Amino acid sequence: MPDPQIALNQPVGDEIKQTTCYMCACRCGINVHLKGGKVRYIEGNRDHPVNKGVLCAKGSAGIMQHYSPARLTKPLLRVGPRGKGEFKEISWEEALQTAVDWMAPLRKSDPKKLAFFTGRDQSQALTGYWAQMFGTPNFAAHGGFCSVNMAAGGIYTMGGSFWEFGQPDWERSKLFVIFGVAEDHDSNPIKMGMSVLKKNGGRVISVNPVRTGYSAIADDWIGIRPGTDGLLILAVIHELLRTRKIDLDYLVRYTNAGWLVHDEAGDGLDGLFVRDEAGEAQLFDMDAGKLVPQTAICKRPQLTGSVTLENGRTATPVLDLLARKYLTDEHAPEAVAEQTGVSAETIRGLAAELARVAFEEEIAIEQPWTDWKGERHERFIGRPVSMHAMRGISAHSNGFQTCRALHLLQILLGSIECPGGFRFKPPYPKPATAHPKPAGKPGTVKPETPLGGAPLGYPQGPEDLLIDGEGNPVRIDKAYSWEAPLSAHGLMHMVISNAHAGDPYKIDTLFMYMANMAWNSSMNTMGVIGMLEDKDPETGEYKIPRIIYSDAYASEMVSYADLVLPDTTYLERHDCISLLDRPICEADAVADAIRHPVTEPDRDVRPFQTVLIDLGARLGLPGFVNEDGSAKYADYADYMVNHERKPGIGPLAGWRGEDGDSSGRGAPNPDQLDRYIANGGFWHREIPEEAQFFKHANAAYQEFAVKMGFFDAPQPSVFQLYSEVLQKFRNAADGKTEPRPPEHLADRVRTAFDPLPSWYQPFEESLVDADEFPLHALTQRPMAMYHSWGSQNAWLRQIHGHNPLYVPAPVCDELGIETGDWVWVTSPHGRIRVIARRMEGVNAKTAWTWNAIGKRAGAWALEEDAPEARKGFLLNHLIHELLPPRGDGRRWANSDPVTGQAAWFDLRVRIEKAGADEDHVTAPAPPPLKRPPGVEKAPETVAYGEFWKNGSGRS
Ligand code: SF4
Repeated sequence: MPDPQIALNQPVGDEIKQTTCYMCACRCGINVHLKGGKVRYIEGNRDHPVNKGVLCAKGSAGIMQHYSPARLTKPLLRVGPRGKGEFKEISWEEALQTAVDWMAPLRKSDPKKLAFFTGRDQSQALTGYWAQMFGTPNFAAHGGFCSVNMAAGGIYTMGGSFWEFGQPDWERSKLFVIFGVAEDHDSNPIKMGMSVLKKNGGRVISVNPVRTGYSAIADDWIGIRPGTDGLLILAVIHELLRTRKIDLDYLVRYTNAGWLVHDEAGDGLDGLFVRDEAGEAQLFDMDAGKLVPQTAICKRPQLTGSVTLENGRTATPVLDLLARKYLTDEHAPEAVAEQTGVSAETIRGLAAELARVAFEEEIAIEQPWTDWKGERHERFIGRPVSMHAMRGISAHSNGFQTCRALHLLQILLGSIECPGGFRFKPPYPKPATAHPKPAGKPGTVKPETPLGGAPLGYPQGPEDLLIDGEGNPVRIDKAYSWEAPLSAHGLMHMVISNAHAGDPYKIDTLFMYMANMAWNSSMNTMGVIGMLEDKDPETGEYKIPRIIYSDAYASEMVSYADLVLPDTTYLERHDCISLLDRPICEADAVADAIRHPVTEPDRDVRPFQTVLIDLGARLGLPGFVNEDGSAKYADYADYMVNHERKPGIGPLAGWRGEDGDSSGRGAPNPDQLDRYIANGGFWHREIPEEAQFFKHANAAYQEFAVKMGFFDAPQPSVFQLYSEVLQKFRNAADGKTEPRPPEHLADRVRTAFDPLPSWYQPFEESLVDADEFPLHALTQRPMAMYHSWGSQNAWLRQIHGHNPLYVPAPVCDELGIETGDWVWVTSPHGRIRVIARRMEGVNAKTAWTWNAIGKRAGAWALEEDAPEARKGFLLNHLIHELLPPRGDGRRWANSDPVTGQAAWFDLRVRIEKAGADEDHVTAPAPPPLKRPPGVEKAPETVAYGEFWKNGSGRS
């Protein structure tokens, strides 16, 4: 019986406002219950397509985020040395004028002297557009240190990847395989999906060094050694090919399996597709006995053997190349068992189970449809095997190829975009060719001139790199240079070190939003702090002369900023979860959403997006001013409604058109935000049934996509088992085409740009002595936290107040370590002292910890002796942004050589017990930071809601 004193049938508050959660990246719909204008309770919105009412611990603890004592309260100008917390409070007018005074001269002289980088912001369609209008190529968000390998691997292979790009068909899937650490990318949706799958009798297999989170409820756990996922996947592919368990019909229809590849002849065509005069890739049609373009219906393309072309050259179909590569002994399960730590029997079992479910449990939906070539089909055939992966497999220096390998496995099983398999979410699939190329070619970055396009994009070959005539990078992070040619999300982890070194050039102003680069978001944290503090001995000026930073909270980074623009919380502002950005669609439906203020700020803070729009107008940026020079938008809400990226296409797709009856395309609707608010903060539109599967090849879907404004013309796509884009880089590395990589990078480009997915040893592992550093070390986000915000949240801190280092039981036995002991962890770069905890469910060569719980003393309004500072720690201190020197003395970035993704998970360490007489405090422990003006110390006891006792409602 419920406690009679708990009035379950009484309203919790006196008002409910529906908006979108921001406590992680899933963007669930929430109902915020307000009482007397204060937030009393947050619950899930049952009608919302993302979470259908489900709310997690983070989401409910949004109340403590909103009322956090760490919130900034006023714009701040630094008056003492960086890092000392000496600021004066200034007015917004002074803050904005200062920012303009710093940035306007750069736009007039050399716009690339402004580097604008953001963290986990959810407004990249705006921030990227702003950078473009400013004219700087130096823009990116946090993807380069998150999961760009996953995103780029998917886009270049099949036009999308996991999470925001697509999802398992939870209702129909019978086997779900999850690779690597992935808990923080898709939280509620995966939990809900796994629950549905398990209720339907489906099974879950987890391939992950650590058995926590989703892996803990998996039916089978494969505790792989970090960095070897690609080896395992290619061995599974070997087994599928050996046992002929691949979906040949699917491969012929939807992939480039039959496309002909020029054999080696020593010229620039080597390894490229045979193309006709119109540029279409060619197949050899066995029925017609001739070459046909890939756009033709060809039921029986030649898939094996050699084809002699009219000019006497020979060519080979992709599938032949693929089979020859993966059927070699080096890919046999026995050959990889030791390196992966997974027995050959287990690998064969995994391959057999994938094939059994895919082919013996085939499902069909009786829904006629027509493909892009005009062929009619009676049904959708499904292979009910689905997969998911995120940072775990991608945050390695071999991550891009591993992500490609995983998608290749899915495609060989025929389980992409089919019932029961992995399904794209609109506007994906969107092949790399349908994305813009990165803008910022030399000569196009000019004073007072917008860039010719978006700073980030997808190159199609070396000719699209952003390098000058000598091969030097155009961008400060060296994205799209030979060091990271396909760096679709930029390299945020290299910005500060490159700017500090003046390599490739010096910048003037670093403008950042929500990116805690002075602590948990940087590799080599202490080194980065030193770079932020470092001055040029000749001029006495900081080497990075100016730092403008916007954040809602007194994070570690605030102390190193020169100008601080205080942001609001997510409950106090407008936001746009846009199809132009990182959408929240489902496989069956298109959706977008908004945030809108549910309470007014009680501090002198402004929403960053509105501030950015204001700065755009003050700087006179095209797109932010009218012809007469006046501001084009009043604020972000105005921009969300009235900005058009092209006629009829704006940030929000719902209720467009003057009277709000259009979807996707349509003129701005002045009542649009009211319509969103009346609908619970989101818009949702079902995809027609005929268009719901095989979207990449489905004529009805393509028509729908054009109608909705995803594309201006249909973009059917063919999955790229073999990547010609990668081969073009290889040909350049072989000296067959121009531009060529510099000599010292040629071998690396040749190895990393294999046109068929491949595996190579992670760079750090190949450079360090395995006896000296015998263990891998990883981090992952706990379920209860996402941003570094989470570990200052009064409620969430009670779940994780500090983070131990989880040490495999055999290592504990060998070193005599018991739970609670202090240990030293040493990497080739550094040494930290932390608390150890014994763990059984982990790969025997892998230690790990939760990420971003450790805090610098004094930051985030916490007590200086808070457990997060004294017992929490960052593994980042052990990871350098540069690898150890190679034979030629050069140091490569600690990144994937294809995309530049930060290789966080390549870390190698050794562990030793700390001395009994040592301090039981985390090391390193830099001096406490001073709280910025306006930020009060957190209360010792939180009793939020006490004031509502007895219905007084007073705070
Ligand atoms: S999963 Fe993420 S977005 Fe959803 S309620 Fe939890 S924190 Fe909020």
